[in-house]
Amino acid sequence: MKFGGTSVGSTESILSLKRIVEAEKGQVVVVVSALGGITDQLLRTARMAVAGDTAYQSEFAQMKQRHYKMASEVIKDVQSRDRLLDELEELLEELRSIYQGVYLIRDLSPKTEAAIVSYGERLSSRIVATLIKGAGWKDSRQFIKTEHKHGKHILDSDLTHRLVKAAFSEEPRVVVPGFISQDKDTDETTNLGRGGSDYTASIIAAALDATVLEIWTDVDGFMTADPRVIHTAYTIQELSYIEAMELCHFGAKVIYPPTIYPVCVKNIPIRVKNTFNPENPGTVIRDHIENDRKPIKGISSISGTTLITVAGLSMVGVIGVNRRIFTTLAEHGISVFMVSQASSENSTSIGVRDEDADQAMAVLNQQFQKEIEMGAMFPMQAERGLATIAIVGENMKHTPGIAGKLFGTLGRSGISVIACAQGASETNISFVVDSQLLRKSLNVLHDSFFLSEYNVLNLFICGVGTVGSNLLEQIRTQRLELMEKRRLKLNVVGIASSRRAIFTRDGIDLDNYRQQLEESLPSNTERLKREVLGMNIFNSVFVDCTASGEVAALYQDLLEHNISVVAANKTAASGPYDVYKQLKETALTRGVKYRFETNVGAGLPIIGTIGDLRASGDKVLRIQAVLSGTLNFICNELAHDVPFSEAVRKAKDLGYSEPDPRIDLSGLDVLRKIVILSREAGYHVEQQDVEQAPFLPGEFFQGDVEEFWRRLPSLDTAFQHRCAKLKAEGKCLRYVATMDHGKTNVQLEEVDKQHPFFQLEGSNNAVMLTTERYREFPMIIQGYGAGAGVTAAGVFANIMSIANI
Ligand code: ADP
Ligand code: ASP
Ligand code: MG
Repeated sequence: MKFGGTSVGSTESILSLKRIVEAEKGQVVVVVSALGGITDQLLRTARMAVAGDTAYQSEFAQMKQRHYKMASEVIKDVQSRDRLLDELEELLEELRSIYQGVYLIRDLSPKTEAAIVSYGERLSSRIVATLIKGAGWKDSRQFIKTEHKHGKHILDSDLTHRLVKAAFSEEPRVVVPGFISQDKDTDETTNLGRGGSDYTASIIAAALDATVLEIWTDVDGFMTADPRVIHTAYTIQELSYIEAMELCHFGAKVIYPPTIYPVCVKNIPIRVKNTFNPENPGTVIRDHIENDRKPIKGISSISGTTLITVAGLSMVGVIGVNRRIFTTLAEHGISVFMVSQASSENSTSIGVRDEDADQAMAVLNQQFQKEIEMGAMFPMQAERGLATIAIVGENMKHTPGIAGKLFGTLGRSGISVIACAQGASETNISFVVDSQLLRKSLNVLHDSFFLSEYNVLNLFICGVGTVGSNLLEQIRTQRLELMEKRRLKLNVVGIASSRRAIFTRDGIDLDNYRQQLEESLPSNTERLKREVLGMNIFNSVFVDCTASGEVAALYQDLLEHNISVVAANKTAASGPYDVYKQLKETALTRGVKYRFETNVGAGLPIIGTIGDLRASGDKVLRIQAVLSGTLNFICNELAHDVPFSEAVRKAKDLGYSEPDPRIDLSGLDVLRKIVILSREAGYHVEQQDVEQAPFLPGEFFQGDVEEFWRRLPSLDTAFQHRCAKLKAEGKCLRYVATMDHGKTNVQLEEVDKQHPFFQLEGSNNAVMLTTERYREFPMIIQGYGAGAGVTAAGVFANIMSIANI
């Protein structure tokens, strides 16, 4: 049983350790790490001492204090405690003298450093040995032996194996310090590398033919990804040795990579368990797993990767270039963790750690010096600041489409892959990305491979006015149904009003988002952008339910970051043509969506229909449309002999018009809508190209609203006359927007009984499309064209169309 740093780091955890070990019936060897954080502190203190910084003394005093405090708190028996404190004192006194020596001589050799760092485990193991009932203690340096090769201390497996077998007999419980070892020739103290206590335990387990190797740590087992990076990572119940090895080698820090091999050879299972939650079954790692269907088990990564490319035309078909590359690197003790070579054979890319990169470049340039001088090969190229990611699972080999899903997911998220490799064993696909994209890559892959029971769509809702709040309510009530019936999970990860915003990766509780907003920090558009982009979240949609130009100005950036945009806001689609065009282009190249169906006719399927017609090869020739619910309402009231000023007032009171009805009456809103429709129909139209006749004479648009209301009745008589005359002729007024082969206008028109717009009730909208196919009898789309409910529903439909189900 190996207990890591955090498991011996606090009183609470060390007492839990005691309970866990004492509950064990069989014979146990307990391997312990240094108290959490101590190894780093030992090294830091040494660096201070060698630099002549007297602060090393207080660091040392602090470490000393921590051990004394721990011993005093957990050992209740006075005699044992005193004995333990004496032992600790003796060790700490040695350590103090070493530090003092380093300080005085200002020299810190690797040998001295190894001696210093060994005290962490030597101290902690004494405490644990005293704490556990009936436990003995052995110094692992007596049997874990290393030899010096390529400037590194490497385990001498055979010797160690023999010594371990001889060292342990029938003792029920023995505590052993992890990590530390001894050079077999010089007897100097060495170690197995950072995180090496796992390895100590594995070596002992293998030599003693243990029934199981237990790694006790601070998480519930081996997880699908690093839980510090991926909050939704969860514990993997079972892993094969091969899968565990692949994941560890690629940076899953939970087990030190060399740990797997010794127990794997002996077929001893490994159990990874949580000292803080011992009831959790944790993870079992073993040879063979039954009924295992999951193609991918986990994702891990290494940052600090350099990719070295060996390239040259002469490499094609030449035998032995690869042999020379790898022999050279091996001779210098440089480990290569990824290789990628295309079948054209004119370049080989090799992934090494950043710290090995300079040396690797130098030795390879030297090795191929002749070829480089002759121009047959290029000097080595290094690309730094990269990260390598691996997805791992033995069942990949039976499942087609994994690589497709992997690269598809990355592509849709705007992540470009710099190099990739998949071995023929098909248990691991590794690839290299810019290290700034590491977190995002891990997130999107984890979401797509592990949370894929559901399709997840992450929504940022901007604007909580009538449309936004209606939408949120519709999402809230539809959510369960969508999960059950369509396997779609709508996750609202951000909500912003004009003054405040909340963001939560795991999804905002929609039952009380208003309150959460109220309690949140003040926000602005700049922060909104930062948060949305910073969240780097897969499959996300930005939903704009505002009318703000500032918010619309964010779309370009959002789309470029592979975030789809659904806009109820008309600003962008009706603004300068170039902006509109660029947004559409960006969405297309990024493989995301920019949808704004509700910009015209609220929930009516107008823009989508025009798109479908064009996609199927039709050409839109003419559009005639009644696009303002407010103006249509006023026209209908006039037809019923209501005075004009009253009709306007009524439209306002019923909530059809804007608070300042002149915004509707100016025709600007209609103008913007016909601009959008014309563009969607394939014509290059700007707002200023539209011929415009407002409902009212120009002077009514000057001055404030009060004045406007005051003056409005002066128009009543004129309208009354006009309407009476029209009525006699069997006609009525409609405010119509027209696009004819690219020419556009908006004006008040008189339509007769035969005209399809004559019957248009209340605040309805209607669009008549004349196309090459619908030439004689145009297509008409008609219905409710305003109102928060239908608009929100239209936005919702746009969101659903992005989910693609
Ligand atoms: P110990 O001190 O017990 O040896 P470590 O810190 O070495 O613990 O390893 C445990 C830590 O590894 C966890 O707290 C977790 O943050 C990290 N980790 C990284 N990848 C994984 C993974 N795939 N599964 C579980 N933990 C992981
Ligand atoms: N204490 C050592 C380290 O921090 C070894 C270990 O914890 O496994 O690296
Ligand atoms: Mg560890």
